[in-house]
Amino acid sequence: MSEPSESADIVIVGTGHGGAQAAISLRQRGAEGRIVMIGRDTAPPYERPPLSKEYLAGDKAFERILIRPEKFWADKGVELKLGAAVAAVDGAAHQITLSDGSTIGYRKLIWAGGGDPRRLACPGAGLKGVFYVRDKSDADAMMDALSAGAKRAVVIGGGYIGLEAAAVLRKLDCAVTVVETQNRVLARVAGETLSRFYEDEHRQHGVDLRLSTGVSQILGDGGKVARVALDTGEEIACDMVIVGIGIVPSIAPLIAAGAAASNGVDVDFCCRTTLDDVYAIGDCAAHANPFADQAVIRLESVQNANDMANTVAKAIMGEKEPYEALPWFWSNQYDLKLQTAGLNLGFDQAITRGDPATRKFTIVYMKEGRPIAFDCVGTMKDYVQGRKLLESRPDKIDPALLADPETPLKELL
Ligand code: ADP
Repeated sequence: MSEPSESADIVIVGTGHGGAQAAISLRQRGAEGRIVMIGRDTAPPYERPPLSKEYLAGDKAFERILIRPEKFWADKGVELKLGAAVAAVDGAAHQITLSDGSTIGYRKLIWAGGGDPRRLACPGAGLKGVFYVRDKSDADAMMDALSAGAKRAVVIGGGYIGLEAAAVLRKLDCAVTVVETQNRVLARVAGETLSRFYEDEHRQHGVDLRLSTGVSQILGDGGKVARVALDTGEEIACDMVIVGIGIVPSIAPLIAAGAAASNGVDVDFCCRTTLDDVYAIGDCAAHANPFADQAVIRLESVQNANDMANTVAKAIMGEKEPYEALPWFWSNQYDLKLQTAGLNLGFDQAITRGDPATRKFTIVYMKEGRPIAFDCVGTMKDYVQGRKLLESRPDKIDPALLADPETPLKELL
């Protein structure tokens, strides 16, 4: 085994929320050795949620979405290797190889690699004018197209990414068609009431929603997107296509190194992979979640990235504590603010608290008589109190009380 080109105490792969928070948390807890953080992105760590919201809309400059001011990292002795990709992990030798062939030895490796946008597989998917929403460069490319005069967009995928992008594009006065293969938007993450509410909102804002419809091909003109052909045979003329159809966990080097993986790389209660001294956090980490009856899941959220980062930093610093943070998430579309708490996996009843027609309401997801998750649209109080309620691991609660907006959730604690 040859000696690595250089060594660090802790190597962090990924400069997203998870990677950045791991470095921050390690230094806060007194970690003293050399920390190297490696990312494919050429920009220093920044927040991702604004990329489909305020950043894309042009309402927030890049400096305002940095996770920390650029000089923070040098001040804390966190070395950033940007624009660098990890090609291989050698678990036995405790070293990684970058795509330029250089090697870095580690005592502990934190894999916060996130995911790559799932690519559209149909003909024409490689045409100019097809965009994904994951990195700053993706959002920048879209903004350039808009500045250059793009006026008609087809959004493929009616998940949060697609819908948030659709809302921004409407605000920018683009004509927007959303194409979703399922028979409702947000089918992966929400119950039907929330889906129908958001469908109505988008229609009222002028979005042409095509449900239960796939895309058969993208047709170009001079190498550039011109039309999207739906599997119904209809063609929609457009200047740009935005694809938001989920992510594929970015874990190939870990799998090649022999790490156990299912839907994501498998981690234990404190985010350890099956490779010695290798942890994984964030979007790519398949873990047993206590708020999903210990089902093994991946969570694509800032909350999960940050809280797992803290769990790992603690474990490395000798305070091993299980990861059991309450999941939460938010989405801004138009003037609507959605906040979710808990996980609705396997819910058997959904209670609507308040009237969606007022654009302020809460959906309570129940499983065997217990509340397991809340979707709060414009109901901040329910969100705050709902979190407390979920953290208390509630027993059965009378659905009539949960359905009554006049009964504060804190009274049900
Ligand atoms: P994201 O985080 O990118 O929004 P989700 O998985 O939550 O990811 O949502 C993606 C949505 O895209 C899902 O509702 C899914 O049904 C839809 N979808 C996936 N593939 C296609 C496709 N080829 N055409 C249209 N919709 C798709």
